[in-house]
Amino acid sequence: METHAPRYYASFRCLAGACPHTCCAAGWEVPVDSASAARYAALPGLLGKQVRAFLEMDPEGEPCLPLRGGVCPFLNREGLCHIHIELGGESTPLICRTHPRFSYNYGSLRERGLCGSCPEAARLILGGDMELTTSLEDGPEEDTPPLLSSLLQARTTALGLLSAEETTLPQRFQALLLFANEVQVLLDEEQAEAIPPLCEFYREEFPFLSLDPDSLPPRQEVLEKCLSILEGLAILRPRWKTLLAAGKACLDHPTPPPSGLGERAAAYFLYRHWLRGVWDGDVLTWAEFAVLGTVVTALLAPQEKEGFSEVFRQFCLELEHSEANMTAIQDALWDVLSLPDLLSIAGM
Ligand code: SF4
Repeated sequence: METHAPRYYASFRCLAGACPHTCCAAGWEVPVDSASAARYAALPGLLGKQVRAFLEMDPEGEPCLPLRGGVCPFLNREGLCHIHIELGGESTPLICRTHPRFSYNYGSLRERGLCGSCPEAARLILGGDMELTTSLEDGPEEDTPPLLSSLLQARTTALGLLSAEETTLPQRFQALLLFANEVQVLLDEEQAEAIPPLCEFYREEFPFLSLDPDSLPPRQEVLEKCLSILEGLAILRPRWKTLLAAGKACLDHPTPPPSGLGERAAAYFLYRHWLRGVWDGDVLTWAEFAVLGTVVTALLAPQEKEGFSEVFRQFCLELEHSEANMTAIQDALWDVLSLPDLLSIAGM
């Protein structure tokens, strides 16, 4: 099957003991796949006894290694995995061997990427402009979702708007929202066949927002609404809660997204989420999410010693690893925030 991946995907190497924010202490229990569970059931010696002593069933009845004090019970003081040291990386649960890599299948297409919640992945994601590679690999050839081709073209156009020459970052973000809104109108009117000509038009004409900025909702109020929405989601780490509260205190002088890092963060969000639209016909949400995620990251960056990249990492950790949070933010982007709200904060 055809497979897409950002060029940096192949460069990823886990930082292991040198990782400043190890995923083994991110607050997630460790799901154990059935092959690993079977191996652990027959594992001899002390390690076998230890693994079996920790192994539990999660509420869905799937085996998992619950955390001790928010940390995987097999993480040692040097930040290394005891199972990995004793038996090799191939004997760790599947999730430990694959994280932070993600892969999504859309019929005959597979898309791979790295989760921004991992500090090394975040460094690669923000370290250069995203370039996609295409290859062929084995995999199930399922029916292609009808919207795939047009939404792929639309995503290419959307990513192109984010890197349009001789434009500012606010202009690019606003153009992205205007384009996504037009794609959404066509999807809602069941006119997906009109998306490719629309893409062609947008490739030739960069859409500058013609509205008077004063006619948009006040930026400070929209930012406050965004932070309140994020505060209302399930929060994984106390630090994120503190950051959101601190962000509310600096709404008078919000820090705009830095050029370069801002485009790359938004491109990551678009690449990862835009094609969800092939399943539910919603793409405007994911353009708005890209803008919201980048603007909120920039707003909170001065509160964090390690700045934009660390807040980006925390945003990804808190949102993208919880499907409940992703559903809640999708609902909020439909019901609580409006397109003018997003255009307002995009113009920072
Ligand atoms: S967060 Fe990333 S770099 Fe750190 S331990 Fe996990 S996979 Fe490795």
